[in-house]
Amino acid sequence: MILDPKISTEAAEVAAEAMRHLWWLRDAGVREVSTEPRTMPAAARPSTPTDAGGAGEALRAIRADIGDCTRCKLHGGRTHVVFGVGDPAAQLMFVGEGPGGDEDQQGEPFVGRAGQLLTKMIEAMGFARSDVYIANVVKCRPPGNRDPEPDEIESCEPFLKAQIAAIRPRVIVALGRFAVQTLLHDATPISRLRGRWREYEGVKLMPTFHPAYLLRSPAEKKPAWDDLQLVMKEFGKSPSPR
Ligand code: URA
Repeated sequence: MILDPKISTEAAEVAAEAMRHLWWLRDAGVREVSTEPRTMPAAARPSTPTDAGGAGEALRAIRADIGDCTRCKLHGGRTHVVFGVGDPAAQLMFVGEGPGGDEDQQGEPFVGRAGQLLTKMIEAMGFARSDVYIANVVKCRPPGNRDPEPDEIESCEPFLKAQIAAIRPRVIVALGRFAVQTLLHDATPISRLRGRWREYEGVKLMPTFHPAYLLRSPAEKKPAWDDLQLVMKEFGKSPSPR
């Protein structure tokens, strides 16, 4: 991309971000985007501040309960407990697997390459990252980014369940097999579960591919985008015209 040398760095960054967003949509099979300003339908707006106060308080209590956790062997290799991030009153929640190296360093979920893709997916859905809540099945980084082990998931699962109970989102998007298996106790491969509504404790749950998998298998972005469009519909948001 050739940039006019006169435009500021900030403008260049905004332009580059917009291009990345459009590339994500193109990879996902979107052929046309509307330039009409989008308003967020009432159904998609965060709920009342009172809810936020209660949920925020509850989340702080859950974080305090985790403390400087030594409940499983992951504690030995971690830098930070990666608790979760976002709006405590979020109507939409994303659940991933566990922190990687960048998340472990920064103490925030989904900030590395997979996280950047997740942020684009959220924005392509018409939400801001700050509108939603993002958490993981395990809160500490598995060494060398290996899969979390059953005893580690078992130790951490009550905290994820407590986070969901505090937030009470309208929809959970479960990213990849560990999120799906932990919440649904269903070992069916994610390729068969994705794209079909399920229910977790009365909350609608959409299984889809994990963004790290989408980075390795870009052809799967199209089905993942189909899944996210089903979620958008639930919030009264129209998918971009194709
Ligand atoms: N992958 C995850 O599942 N969670 C993160 O926070 C980062 C990468």
